[in-house]
Amino acid sequence: MVAERHRSDTVSADVLLWQTGYRIVLALAAAVVAVGLRSTGFLQLAPVADAVVGRRVADWMLVIVTVVYALLVLGIRQGILRTRTAGRSLSTLMVAADLAVVFWLLFLLVDHESYHLGLFVAFFALQLPHVYFGRGPALLMLVAAAAAYLLLNDVAAQHGVLVPWRRILLTLGIFGAGALLVTRVQSDLHERLAALVSMFARAEEGDFSDSYDVAADRRPDAITSVGRAYNRMRTQLATIVLTDPLSGCFNRRGFELQFRRELARAARAQTDVALLAIDLDHFKVVNDTHGHLVGDQVIAEAGELLRVNARAHDVVARTGGEEFTILAPNTTIDGARNLAQRIVEAFQRRTFAEPKARVLVTVSIGVVAAAVPDDSIAEALRSRADEALYAAKRNGRNRVVLWSSGLDAMRLGQRSEFPTTRLTAEPSSRR
Ligand code: GH3
Ligand code: MG
Ligand code: MG
Repeated sequence: MVAERHRSDTVSADVLLWQTGYRIVLALAAAVVAVGLRSTGFLQLAPVADAVVGRRVADWMLVIVTVVYALLVLGIRQGILRTRTAGRSLSTLMVAADLAVVFWLLFLLVDHESYHLGLFVAFFALQLPHVYFGRGPALLMLVAAAAAYLLLNDVAAQHGVLVPWRRILLTLGIFGAGALLVTRVQSDLHERLAALVSMFARAEEGDFSDSYDVAADRRPDAITSVGRAYNRMRTQLATIVLTDPLSGCFNRRGFELQFRRELARAARAQTDVALLAIDLDHFKVVNDTHGHLVGDQVIAEAGELLRVNARAHDVVARTGGEEFTILAPNTTIDGARNLAQRIVEAFQRRTFAEPKARVLVTVSIGVVAAAVPDDSIAEALRSRADEALYAAKRNGRNRVVLWSSGLDAMRLGQRSEFPTTRLTAEPSSRR
């Protein structure tokens, strides 16, 4: 929620920054055109403005208001450049200043019969705060425009020129109803677009769990079509983005996603998770002897064999060339050892790449299991599983090694003192 807010403040800041130039140019152009038209006699000073500010002051007023507005815009820009964010109040201030300039220029230049032009301008201008800042500032602009219109009519009435109240109310009614309708339709579009954008953002991170709620769109439109297309593609996209095409297992990205998810779940449920780091033994020899195509087929069959031996909730991933990782949720070290043992034995029994070749491949597996306090344990689990895998390699391959704190000492190489030997699988006689 806070992150969402921060992001929208940053977006508002960007919008206000790029709009600065447009605002200043538009305000200066409006002032120059107004002064120009008035000096050629094309535009008269409005009678009410004449009575309120006086003919001579009016020209200065035009220039002064524009300069004050430009200074305000530049001030806001400086503020944003310093903080890099723009909260609701800044965008609201900007919208209010825009509106004040529009109605002030109208007050100076048109007579009381034409004050409704301000509502006309506001009706179109309303789209901008709505698109860039959201519904709040847009509704505020709507109310402020109505108030400014009433204020100008009140000033006119005090100077003896009356627009009939019935006409004022009718104009306000049409403006209000039209603007509310447009705002409502646009809000609906915005919300649905925002839902799509966040779905795509999550998909970019590999999370395809959300689908677009097509049924909620009572009047389907282009956004519904995009949502429907996304839903159709979702499963295929998830497969493309998260799986390794050769082995059919999760790829590294898919694994990372599942790993984070399972760690969070384990931390909530206070259960253990186990990690198995699996590496095919002497795989270079397989390639050298049978060629890469057969090597590829062995990797594909190895992936399938791992999936068959894993349980339904285990995450089987190909995390390197001939390296796999199994994440076993809700699994203690005993369960993980049994799983690893089962896998080592399955590889010992299996002949790969038949009938093209008859390849025998064994695996070494490093195993770690731990309770999960929070997801900061992720790196520790990974490196411990790797440590145990290297120990299995050093200790003769084709075996399981469980990680234990004494494992580091083994790095130094006394094989006979290897603390987890009793936990290793029986070495195969096949290699
Ligand atoms: P170790 O028992 O120490 O793991 O020996 P190894 O030969 O398996 O290990 P090493 O890391 O030296 O070599 C891994 C080999 O796996 C080398 C590489 O050519 C092969 N390999 C990696 N990815 C693929 C792949 O996608 N297809 C094929 N055919 N071979 C691959
Ligand atoms: Mg290997
Ligand atoms: Mg390897």
